[in-house]
Amino acid sequence: METTLIKNLNTKTDQEVLIKGWVYNMRSSGKISFLIIRDGSALVQVVVVKKEVGEEEFAKIAKLGQETPVIIKGIAKEEPRSVGGYEILASNIEIVSENKSEYPITHKEHGVEFLADNRHLWIRTPKQTAILKIRSEIENSIRSYFQKRDFVLTDAPIITPAACEGTTNLFEIDYHGDKAYLSQSGQLYMEAAAMALGRVYCFGPAFRAEKSKTRRHLLEFWMVEAEMAFMGFEENIKIQEELVYTIIQDVLNNCENELITLKRDIDKLKQISLPFPRLSYSEAVEIIQNSDEEFKNFKWGEDFGAPEETYISNKFTSPVFIHRYPTEIKAFYMKPDPTNDKVVLGADLIAPEGYGEIIGGGERISDLDLLLSRIKEHDLPQESFEWYLDLRRFGSVEHCGFGLGLERTVAWLCGLEHIRETTLFPRMLHKMYP
Ligand code: ATP
Ligand code: MG
Repeated sequence: METTLIKNLNTKTDQEVLIKGWVYNMRSSGKISFLIIRDGSALVQVVVVKKEVGEEEFAKIAKLGQETPVIIKGIAKEEPRSVGGYEILASNIEIVSENKSEYPITHKEHGVEFLADNRHLWIRTPKQTAILKIRSEIENSIRSYFQKRDFVLTDAPIITPAACEGTTNLFEIDYHGDKAYLSQSGQLYMEAAAMALGRVYCFGPAFRAEKSKTRRHLLEFWMVEAEMAFMGFEENIKIQEELVYTIIQDVLNNCENELITLKRDIDKLKQISLPFPRLSYSEAVEIIQNSDEEFKNFKWGEDFGAPEETYISNKFTSPVFIHRYPTEIKAFYMKPDPTNDKVVLGADLIAPEGYGEIIGGGERISDLDLLLSRIKEHDLPQESFEWYLDLRRFGSVEHCGFGLGLERTVAWLCGLEHIRETTLFPRMLHKMYP
């Protein structure tokens, strides 16, 4: 007999089904037991009646511990009062294996440190599985968005000989006696790929040895990075806002149950609309200086921290682009604004509700001499960038791109307090177990 996923029980009303899963919870009276079974797809209540399964079987089942794996045969019944709207009247329950001791994560409240140390078990709980499913939906949404727009998926290397996002947070590795680093970003390689293929993206892990503990930073995270040849600043922003809008719609349409499990305020996501507001850095600074907050002494030229970003984003219901940052605080490859070379044609997208920057992007310098002088100003080793400079020596065109942080996006759409729950096994400052 074929196994039915619990989430598909609605296609099997009044039929015999076989489900395979784990005991999530149970209660029992003398004659009848109610098991809540999870199989990863959903939860279902299984009703076991002593008369049906026999005295001996019933006694075994009444003692089942949390997370015992079971294979259940029974009839699927519509039951609006039960979790998921279905119930199974069991005719047979097979216990696949016995747990060696009491399951550590009970239905009581546990401290987050305990849960983090037991992340390998914590991910079995409904909230965590909901997050992981939304993450999967977001990844699918991103891939299909780019696929539909003729982008080519090109995977950037993980081991790199030089830094591209500053040298302070590099993970160094030994490359047979040479120094190498784990990639902080695939962008420079994407620029090469864009000159070969036109429109490209990569989607993979990035590594940054962040030295402070925040709710928004992991040491290993996933980033989707797009790069487009023959494209300028405005069009770049359009692609980003349409991408983010598409992700939101896909999550709203395909992950309703998960959002409900997470108690996400869905209206906040539904009210987001295109186009997203745009604010120049200078306008944002003015808003901050005119505020009554402790950061009102913020000076033009400084970088925004989490409090400033949150203050700005709270003025809008949709994500907001902040563009034209001071040249000094942005990466060496950013193109200066032709009308004001104190600022660059870069933009960050700040998520609502205090979730901070989810995208960094902008137009790249396409002029060889300017790029050379920036590499010198930033004290970067020119010999490591010769190949990158070649992109300006041969066939150089206007081009731009952006990087969207997957975990930040997951945290925002799921409404999570902390980024650590957005990935299977988070890598954080002083924590990499399990
Ligand atoms: P921040 O200033 O918030 O540290 P950043 O400016 O260093 O971010 P970018 O270099 O622009 O970030 O990277 C692009 C995107 O990658 C960011 O918008 C963010 O969504 C994500 N990101 C960057 N660093 C991290 C991190 N340590 N953990 C998780 N996501 C990150
Ligand atoms: Mg940035």
